[in-house]
Amino acid sequence: MFQRISKITCDKCGREVAVDPRDDDPFLSAFTVENNDIEGWERISDDVHLCPACAATYRSKLAEYEDELRRVIGVTNVSVSVTASN
Ligand SMILES: [Zn+2]
Repeated sequence: MFQRISKITCDKCGREVAVDPRDDDPFLSAFTVENNDIEGWERISDDVHLCPACAATYRSKLAEYEDELRRVIGVTNVSVSVTASN
């Protein structure tokens, strides 16, 4: 059974944000509701949420790990600059 929630708590730092208890999915509604307090919050899984500050750190670390995983399997990013010659 779906349990309605009236606030979301950051699992990292404990910061809280109030959400409309009538809203079944505040993360989904964040795309349609203006001035939504949940903007920048991230749902990592059904019961794990991060505030904007902690989510930024999480995304940064996630990008590092993804880069490392690509290196492990031998895929590297190559930057190429192309200039036209006349
Ligand atoms: Zn936080």
